[in-house]
Amino acid sequence: MPLLPPLIPHLKSPDLFGNLDRLPALGTPVCERTFVVLNPSTGELLAELPDMGVEETRAAIDKAYMAQPGWAALTARERSDILWRWHQLIVDHTDDLGAILTAEMGKPLAEAKSEISHAAAYLQWYAEEANRIYGETISAPSTDRRMLVIKQPIGVVGTITPWNFPASMVARKISPALAAGCTIVLKPAEQTPLVAGAMFALAHQAGFPEGVVNLVYASEGDAVGRELCGNPKVRKISFTGSTEVGRLLMRQCSDQIKKVSLELGGNAPFIVFDDADVDAAVDGAIQAKFRNAGQTCVSANRLYVQSGVHDEFVDKFVKRVRQLQVGDGFDPAVAIGPLIDQHALAKIESHIADAVEKGGIVRCGGKRIGTRGTFFQPTVLTGISSEMTVAQEETFGPLAAIINFDDADQVVHEANDTIYGLAAYFYASNLKRVWRVAEALEYGMVGINTGRMSSEAAPFGGVKQSGIGREGSRHGLEDYLEMKYLCMGGI
Ligand code: NAD
Repeated sequence: MPLLPPLIPHLKSPDLFGNLDRLPALGTPVCERTFVVLNPSTGELLAELPDMGVEETRAAIDKAYMAQPGWAALTARERSDILWRWHQLIVDHTDDLGAILTAEMGKPLAEAKSEISHAAAYLQWYAEEANRIYGETISAPSTDRRMLVIKQPIGVVGTITPWNFPASMVARKISPALAAGCTIVLKPAEQTPLVAGAMFALAHQAGFPEGVVNLVYASEGDAVGRELCGNPKVRKISFTGSTEVGRLLMRQCSDQIKKVSLELGGNAPFIVFDDADVDAAVDGAIQAKFRNAGQTCVSANRLYVQSGVHDEFVDKFVKRVRQLQVGDGFDPAVAIGPLIDQHALAKIESHIADAVEKGGIVRCGGKRIGTRGTFFQPTVLTGISSEMTVAQEETFGPLAAIINFDDADQVVHEANDTIYGLAAYFYASNLKRVWRVAEALEYGMVGINTGRMSSEAAPFGGVKQSGIGREGSRHGLEDYLEMKYLCMGGI
């Protein structure tokens, strides 16, 4: 029951994207069970998709396994050419992909299109990087030996992606895997499978050989995840999502010592020191906190503001937050779309209630909007302290929690006092402070005087319980390659 064209306004290629429930050309396994995809702004039904399980996942893995040697045997240039074609098709269909993304996930259309461009940028980057897989020669300890290191693809990779960046997470994972010569089986998030399906429809047009890219739609992750982790034909799992599920997958992979790349949750501190440019810090905080309605793993979850600039920062920040318009992502005036579902609404409400009970003050927002869709007012809380839930857990919503601090050394200690280590941000001008704080923050990524740092050219990833591995840059490619040492004697 493909319903996309009537429900997603202005689709330019309804023929191409109107049948995302059936992707036979990609070898999507046949399945009678179905699940539904809803628009979070309206609650409307967007599509009904096959709900695949163990059997279909196994079929997809078999295809990927059969296709992998042939894909790896192509020249790097041949793999690169197909990735380039896929990149170009995604660029050409940005408007449609953006509309599908907004319809199923809710983010404003401009943000959705910018995500599609970001996804395309990963394909471009790894189309180029495919040609730059290098080995090493080693100076041998005796003259009759030659020693070298070659790099080979890991094999079949199982990938599982979240709903908050449903296009760029797909591209960020599978483009380095494909460039390296791996084949993939992807399970997109159940809330947002359509944009992944649309990208796969374009992958087919780009000319990937059968079995190289495989899509498994499912209404939940458990069965597919267990098969991907337990099937010995899959050599690596690449997962982005919650730390809780990441832990589970790591356990499921442990029997076979299967390789894992994990991009997990965060609890990003955003520190504004007395010597910061306050206006720039306000701009950065708006970006780092409210992009994607706060539903980003790098969202500024705890805003530490030093007492000398605290009141000025809060006044200017609250003024800006009040101007953020909330509504349907297809309305061009809207900056904040709906939250993904009712659970997300309940979580933000519980964080606010806990903070207020312990002395926090609501400076703006704090309430749901209407009963249709899952909209929440952009909210600012002050008077936050570290024992409040909002300071300890990622809210994953449009809620900024501000902590007033005095001691510059102590704040770095507090910022590090979490199990997470994905992204951190700080604003300061004193050069010595900039270096010291950047080095002392225990995070995989640090934004200095900026609220936005994600780029295909840079290694994205976390330390501590925020994950294992990096995505993007040349480091992202290495995560899909095995190193083999060759030693030849008797020369
Ligand atoms: P989630 O872990 O619930 O779901 C992510 C994916 O895992 C979905 O595809 C889901 O179907 C699947 N899944 C769920 N249970 C599973 C299981 N038992 N076995 C296998 N797969 C399973 O997370 P979410 O709520 O969709 O996403 C939000 C989380 O993702 C946040 O914690 C956020 O910080 C994190 N995230 C991290 C990054 C990063 O790069 N570090 C990027 C985006 C999101």
